[in-house]
Amino acid sequence: MSCNYLIDHIPPNTPCNRRPALPMLATTITIHNTGNPSSTARNERNWLTNPSNNRTASYHIVIDEREAIECLPLSENAWHSGDGSGAKSGNRTSIGIEICESGDYAKTLDNAASLVASMLRERGWGVDRLRRHYDWSGKICPRLMYDNGKWTGWEAFKAAVSSKSTQNVQESEPKQERGDMMMEKIEVYMNDKKLIDGLYDTKAGVTYVPVRTVAEALGAGVKWDAKNKRVELKC
Ligand SMILES: [Zn+2]
Repeated sequence: MSCNYLIDHIPPNTPCNRRPALPMLATTITIHNTGNPSSTARNERNWLTNPSNNRTASYHIVIDEREAIECLPLSENAWHSGDGSGAKSGNRTSIGIEICESGDYAKTLDNAASLVASMLRERGWGVDRLRRHYDWSGKICPRLMYDNGKWTGWEAFKAAVSSKSTQNVQESEPKQERGDMMMEKIEVYMNDKKLIDGLYDTKAGVTYVPVRTVAEALGAGVKWDAKNKRVELKC
């Protein structure tokens, strides 16, 4: 990640049911633009708890040129896809990321591509897990990737995410060869369904998997406290 990732969840009692706390095991990530050329990630997070906001709309993460803010736990649903509240709707199955339009947009896009690449890698997903808001409801969103219906910006964004995912692999592989660890790729299954790719240290007999993926699959909330280098799980 090339920018700060801040967790600042809105309270469960936020008006207009913006945090309904319905548990969610996400299967995709949905990309949006805020539609507001002057708002920052902080503005968008604050809007969710602004008393004059009377809309039932929310999102998991907002990102701008400086920072990403997680507004709702990624294991709960948000209302960002406009395609209803059914169990298979985007609202109930997808993590919503709002890309801000303010400031240095090229930097914001690069931050977003880095964040999404790391989220895909953490979950063992490819770019086929990415959705536009448009894919759920037909809304022209993310609007800055629309390009009069050609969606060239969307294809470019997916390519940037894909390239960053690959870079991460190349950077991390030499590390796996150093030291005493002997890493082997393994697959982790839950209830007969593949959950994630993991690494097995054949010398130590330890399996390494992304804690978020496993914890969320088991219904726990995950919080990363970067300052204290601590992962907190809440059931
Ligand atoms: Zn949208």
